[in-house]
Amino acid sequence: MFDIVLCQRDFQEIKECFGDSGKFEIHEFSGDSQLRAYLNDNKTVLLITTKSSVKPDLFNLFEMPKKGNCEYYYLSKLNLDRDELEACEKFFPDVRDISVCADYYSASGVFYIDQIDPVGMPNFSKEIMPVLKRYFKDSDYKEALFLDRDGVLNIDHSYVHKIEELELVSGAYEFLLDDYNKTRLKIVLTNQSGVSKGKFEYTDVEKFNSALNESLHHLIDAFYIAPFEFLKGVGQYKYHSLLRKPHPGMLLEACFDFAVDLKKSYMVGDKQSDQLNFPLLETIHLKNRYPLEGVKYLANNFAEVLKFAKTLPNKTN
Ligand SMILES: [Mg+2]
Repeated sequence: MFDIVLCQRDFQEIKECFGDSGKFEIHEFSGDSQLRAYLNDNKTVLLITTKSSVKPDLFNLFEMPKKGNCEYYYLSKLNLDRDELEACEKFFPDVRDISVCADYYSASGVFYIDQIDPVGMPNFSKEIMPVLKRYFKDSDYKEALFLDRDGVLNIDHSYVHKIEELELVSGAYEFLLDDYNKTRLKIVLTNQSGVSKGKFEYTDVEKFNSALNESLHHLIDAFYIAPFEFLKGVGQYKYHSLLRKPHPGMLLEACFDFAVDLKKSYMVGDKQSDQLNFPLLETIHLKNRYPLEGVKYLANNFAEVLKFAKTLPNKTN
């Protein structure tokens, strides 16, 4: 998943952990310009550093839906059992920044920076490394098919949320079952700004997703929902959220939940915004009622989606 690991903290420990695998280059983090150079070189970087060592002007600050810092946000995704979680939680204010960094700039907004620079240091090698070590096992990575929901799986009747409005897109079910897709994780990433606009409730989205999955014979492994919208949103969901496509927040959540091999995965959507700001994931657009200018792969039907998918670089056939 990563080409380079840049670390500032516990460099030797981290080097020992990842060094033998030959999978990553490990470098001691020496500042923003080094990071910038790797990213300009299209490297994917895991950055392990302290917040204060990365200049805040590199980050596009988005308000996160959850209160908390990015350590909590990401570490909470690492399949921790209760004891491990408690061990980490104990150090949360002190863990500093463990940030996943893949194209720092095009994926701007991936990071949440706590305004408060924490004090103290955790026992990084004892408490955190075992968690990271386990997470980076090669066998954990899986190929995925990411899917927009409305207009790809179910017909988009505009702000569709009632179960009686659920109508599968013709060929969608067969598409999921195709040989090329059947062993992939199938993960839905859906913007649902109707929630932030007060048109329906978050629970309506969840209910609809359940009904949809039932009609697809439970082929979908997970749904990620972005109920946020800033301009027309009201109340608690009026956010510039990194979860809202084209920001990659939902994708990153999924990657942490499932350890996805992004280079062997692909996304299918019907809107421009389904092309996520994330360099490792190619999107194939399915022609629907939205304008799609300048998209890379424009398919008229699922058969064409499959045709494109099989030509994507790094994909297995
Ligand atoms: Mg759509």
